[in-house]
Amino acid sequence: MSGVYFHIPFCKQLCHYCAFHKSISLQATNEMLNCFKKELKLRKDYLNQKSVSTIYFGGGTPSVYQPEQIELLIDEVAKYWNIESDAEITMEANPDDLNQSYLEKLSKSSVNRLSVGIQSFHDEDLILMNRRHTGKEAFNAIRRAQDLGFDNISVDQIYGVPGLSMEKWKENLDLVYDLNIQHISSYHLMYDPNTVFSKKLEKGQLTELDEEESFEQFKYLIDSARENGFIHYEISNFSKEGFISRHNSSYWQQKQYLGIGPSAHSYNLQEREWNIAHNYKYMKAIDEKEDFSEKENLSFHDRFNDFVLTSLRTYWGMNLDQVKELFGEQLHQHCVKKAEKYIQSNHIRKENNSLILCDDGVFVSNDIMSDFFWIEEE
Ligand code: SF4
Repeated sequence: MSGVYFHIPFCKQLCHYCAFHKSISLQATNEMLNCFKKELKLRKDYLNQKSVSTIYFGGGTPSVYQPEQIELLIDEVAKYWNIESDAEITMEANPDDLNQSYLEKLSKSSVNRLSVGIQSFHDEDLILMNRRHTGKEAFNAIRRAQDLGFDNISVDQIYGVPGLSMEKWKENLDLVYDLNIQHISSYHLMYDPNTVFSKKLEKGQLTELDEEESFEQFKYLIDSARENGFIHYEISNFSKEGFISRHNSSYWQQKQYLGIGPSAHSYNLQEREWNIAHNYKYMKAIDEKEDFSEKENLSFHDRFNDFVLTSLRTYWGMNLDQVKELFGEQLHQHCVKKAEKYIQSNHIRKENNSLILCDDGVFVSNDIMSDFFWIEEE
């Protein structure tokens, strides 16, 4: 199982919290499309598998491209790999791009999963975040997509936003549940450096939400999602039965993926690679057949730490038999020993020889995962 990810590095407007690589200059969208095609050809041997089971268009804003342009990229993938007949093909989209005619065309394409960045249904929060849609537009976009037959839809919601009361958060989630969608990705607001939000925070123009309130919002999310039939399968991801994101799961299950486009990351089980995060430099390097990525060869212990980080965050957990098989007896014993105190304190449970975070463990997952890391002595 392997996947192809396209990073579409364009947005029509910059959200004030966003640290992803993107440009609001849309002049080079066609040129970029050609570079994607060239990069696919250049890297056709990167995955040592002949077939692809997931394709993911992320960004940035993939919906800056027309559905026929997205289909063209899928056709390009098909030139080099066999796209499995039940492949999951996801496209992220901004709600205000999903008008009737766009969705009609998209529903005839090979895209079979939509991931819609809604973030909030409250217009004052959307204005604060500098989103370019209203809550009502977002709600209607999902309904339109469903009417046109999309039956695998994910929505994004952000909590911990300044001014987001518990009451407003509950209203957001109630609307999500009313929409009867299949998947939710929900993240705590991060103040990444170089975002408008972090600058406003520094200047005292924004007040961070109280940590306790953020924690209560996360807790409510977990409980209410479960009550509404969602499986909490990764720290920030929830799905109805049968709708776990196969593409994102491949990141957490140590599967190979090829990332195309500026800033896209790739992994082939041995090394990580990431493309230059600059549109012009990326396109120039592709055209002139120069290096456009950096590589990191993963040491044995890097791979172990990656394994901890990716497996413990999922509801499948970290399987101790697999630890022994992949990393040997010493690291197996290290995990068994580390787990003892967390099992006793109900932060971790052991099932079928896998260590799985309990709810109390999910709330402090970063601390637990770093405690399991193997730190090499200098
Ligand atoms: S959050 Fe999405 S739409 Fe907003 S700037 Fe970032 S990538 Fe673009």
